[in-house]
This record gives sequence, structure tokens and C-alpha cells, in this order.
Amino acid sequence: MMEIDEQTIQIEVRPRAHIQACSICGSAHSVIRKGSNRTRKIRHLNAFCKTVYILAPAIRLYCKDCHAGFVWRYAFVDSGKRYSTAFEEQASRLAAVSTVKQSADIHSMPGSTLPTQQQQWLARESDRLQQQAWKEAATSSKLVLGIDDFAIRKGHTYNTGIHNLRGETLLDNLPGRKLEELRDYAQKHPSFLSLRPLAVVMDLAPYYHAWIQECFPEAIRVADRFHVQRCGGGIASGS
Ligand SMILES: [Zn+2]
Repeated sequence: MMEIDEQTIQIEVRPRAHIQACSICGSAHSVIRKGSNRTRKIRHLNAFCKTVYILAPAIRLYCKDCHAGFVWRYAFVDSGKRYSTAFEEQASRLAAVSTVKQSADIHSMPGSTLPTQQQQWLARESDRLQQQAWKEAATSSKLVLGIDDFAIRKGHTYNTGIHNLRGETLLDNLPGRKLEELRDYAQKHPSFLSLRPLAVVMDLAPYYHAWIQECFPEAIRVADRFHVQRCGGGIASGS
């Protein structure tokens, strides 16, 4: 069944088979159905400019040989996930692209070689992802921020990346890494100052420690260069 309204398309799916092989012994021989838990609502790739959700029953199965219960596995989504594999892949590609676009903005690089329409779409999509990332960070009760510096081209001036390490999103890139530049950013971005991070991970640079102490006196400051770089440095450097 398929339901369509102005913004969304909801597609109800149901497996054709009655049972599925046991995830332990690999046999379907002693597997029985034990009803359904609920309907899983899984975000999938957009279609016809609408948001697509797949509604799939979380069917409970039980293997009498293994005395083990499990839930129906769908090929298009990992267990317990709310986004289809295809959607996640697209989102991570977009996140990488939006980071590159931001980096380009900072350096006022002329629009890349992308056709204009695609550029506009990219800009919109990147704004949307950015807003979503900030919203996530603002509402997170266990927010861990990561602060790192990076040079877009080797030997050039440094920028500072602000990451949500748990959500693995890049929240912002700001030009510079001197204390005045950092203070200036904080002053102009109340949404940054209103974050409530539990901890902030950064390298040993004293300017970062001073700045974070000023902005978030209650946050635990963690010096861990490796973690920050691993999380975002690779993407942010635009390689
Ligand atoms: Zn079994």
C-alpha cells in the first residue's frame, strides 16, 4: 500500500516469505513467527520531490532449535536503524560535499565547475544539513564538541572546525584560530554559545583551551589531537 500527501510518500511493505532463516543456525527449519512488535518507519531516498518512508513490520521470529528470538532482517536497512542503507550512503556523500562547499566559501573560491542548477541544489541541501546538524547539537544532552584547525591548502592560513563528535557532523568552519578570531566568532554566533557541551575535545593549542574555558566553563576539556583529526580533519581539508 502506498499513501501520498503533500510532503511525504509512505510505502507499506511486507515480506513475501512467511519465515526467515535463523540468524544463529542459519536454518529456517525450526523457525516460527511470534507476531509483530510494531511497524518500523524507515526513511528512504526522496522520490518525486517528496520524503519517502518505508513502513515495514518488525516481525518477531523464534528458532526452536536455538531457543533464540530475532527480528525480521530486511536487505535495505540494518537492524534497528531508522534510515535505509541507500539513504545513509547518500547523506554521508552530501555531508562530505557540503563540507567541501563550506571550505570553498571560506576561501571565496569561485563556484566550482558544477552546473548552476546543481550548485543551487547543493547550496540548499548544504544549508538544510547544516541547520539539522545545529538542531541536533542544541538538543543533545550529551554533546561532545571537537575543535581542530586545518589549512585548506598547505602552508596557508588556518581555519577552525567545530564538530559534533558524537553525531559526527561538522557544525561550522571559522576563519582563523587566534584567540581574537575565536572570540569574534563566539560573539557573532549566539547559537554556538548556547550549546551545552559535556566535553570538548581539542589539541593542545593554548588558544583553544582559553577560548573553550571562556565559552563553556563547565565543559570538560580533553586534549586529544588524534580523535579530532580522525573525525573531521580528513574531510575538512578538502582532499
Ligand atoms: Zn536456529
